[in-house]
Amino acid sequence: MNNINSNQVSRGVEVSSKFFCSMAYNKNLEEQMEFNKDKHYLGTLCKYNHEYKDTGMSLRYKSNGHNCVECLVIYGKKRRIENKDNMKEYLHDYYKKNKEHHKIQCKLWSKKNKKKIIEMRQTYYKKNKEKIYKLSTQWKKDNPEKLKEMNKRYSLKHKEEINKRSKDWGLKNKERMCFLTKRWKENNPEKHKIIQKKAYTKIRSTLKGKINHRMSASVRQSLIKGKNGYRWESLVGYTAKDLEKHLESLFTKEMSWKLFMDGGIHIDHKIPISVFNFNSYNDIDFKRCWALSNLQPLLAKDNLIKHDKIYKDFQPSLCIGVKL
Ligand SMILES: [Zn+2]
Repeated sequence: MNNINSNQVSRGVEVSSKFFCSMAYNKNLEEQMEFNKDKHYLGTLCKYNHEYKDTGMSLRYKSNGHNCVECLVIYGKKRRIENKDNMKEYLHDYYKKNKEHHKIQCKLWSKKNKKKIIEMRQTYYKKNKEKIYKLSTQWKKDNPEKLKEMNKRYSLKHKEEINKRSKDWGLKNKERMCFLTKRWKENNPEKHKIIQKKAYTKIRSTLKGKINHRMSASVRQSLIKGKNGYRWESLVGYTAKDLEKHLESLFTKEMSWKLFMDGGIHIDHKIPISVFNFNSYNDIDFKRCWALSNLQPLLAKDNLIKHDKIYKDFQPSLCIGVKL
């Protein structure tokens, strides 16, 4: 807690609005001693010889019985010190009775004095660092529920900012991030499952995501040893967008992307995968099997009929000379 920032203070309990108001009030006393031609004039020296800036005269109120300003300031201060307890009670009562009015006044004042408030906060924080830290730690211990609620509200309000910060941190601390993520997943298997499911649903809710997902799974399934971590696009030599254009060009009247999204259209191999002879994505047959020209959109119901036919009629003859 070296540098002050407005969050730390505004989120802590130790600095109340009452404090700022009282500080502002004290400041007003000093300000009262400044010459204001609407309120003040220079008059005869008062009996306590309160001379205003070597003028040989006293600063006096135009109204208020033409009293000496300094006299009144000193008298006011003295009275407040003498009646500290009474004053406290009085202010407390006054505050209670005029809560709403006080709130509005405070807000108005704060709006006008934003810079001043930041300065005051910084000064107060620097002076009371230890005290603030102790009080805030204690408060956090005593109010875990409230703290949770406050943190929740804060993260909701500053979602983007927080995300960006943690993303930047993750990029700078890759190894640490990996370790922390892994540990979190191990400690929160249920939560991790839910997050994964959400991400999965989100990805598959877009056309690109759906094409990616289907192709990735199909290409992986067609390879005995899997994709080795490569993206399907880099293995087949075209992109999801290319495939989208290709499929759309072959759509019949019945077909639409909505139907595709609902699972009513399959990405079909004109010559089925089982006919090709490949073990790895480097084999020529893999490229031929997954070439755009071998793919077509097929209504799900037609695809099932086709499968049947291939297995019953075509498969045996196609298998001749083909290692499976
Ligand atoms: Zn005086």
